[in-house]
Amino acid sequence: MDNYKHKGLRKKLINELIVKGIKDEKVLDAIMKVPRHLFLDNAFEEWAYKDNAFPIDCEQTISQPYTVAFQTSLLKVQPGHKILEIGLGSGYQACVLIEMGAKVYSIERHKTLHDKTAVRLKDLGYSSIRTFYGDGFEGLPRFAPFDSIIVTAACPEIPKALWEQLKIGGHMVAPMTTGSNHQIMYRFYKNQDGSLRKEEFGDFKFVPMLKGIL
Ligand code: SAH
Repeated sequence: MDNYKHKGLRKKLINELIVKGIKDEKVLDAIMKVPRHLFLDNAFEEWAYKDNAFPIDCEQTISQPYTVAFQTSLLKVQPGHKILEIGLGSGYQACVLIEMGAKVYSIERHKTLHDKTAVRLKDLGYSSIRTFYGDGFEGLPRFAPFDSIIVTAACPEIPKALWEQLKIGGHMVAPMTTGSNHQIMYRFYKNQDGSLRKEEFGDFKFVPMLKGIL
């Protein structure tokens, strides 16, 4: 259930995100629409609208709302864009992208988590999100190319297959491992000649992107 109390808490969260520097109205509108409390187990409902990451199944996390807002702003989403997400997790980020009018394909390497999230997305009416159980390092060659790619786990280097599946003129947003316990957010732009332009956006914390499936 999503009631006036939840909507009020979401409005407060939006204000907090604005104070923290999120300006993109379309991103804020999408976050206002997604009932984040329904992505956490019932007992933790009160935590849903705090600006924190939170543990979910399989020792993974639902990203902090600020991180979701920040990464989504970097993607420059346009309605109709075909977007590949690596790290479905709870499915929350994918829903924010759908609310912005994108077509979303999302990969998760944990079978239990993938299956549980796929059911949740259907129950919540987000069945247009296409979920895949598999290794995100391989991407989805069958559905390539993508207008943009969002990686929601920390990767050691730009996964080659993903770069190949990105359109010319597309963006890939990914946190990269630094050697210490935080990561740096990057946005990579694919130039006409296939080369990349790289921009750096500060420190974030993510679970690692790992090879293989579970
Ligand atoms: N986007 C998620 C946050 C997920 S946390 C949300 O909105 O809730 C990162 C997720 O990436 C975890 O669920 C983890 O299992 C997954 N992951 C890590 N390495 C992966 C890989 N190689 N392929 C696919 N998923 C991966």
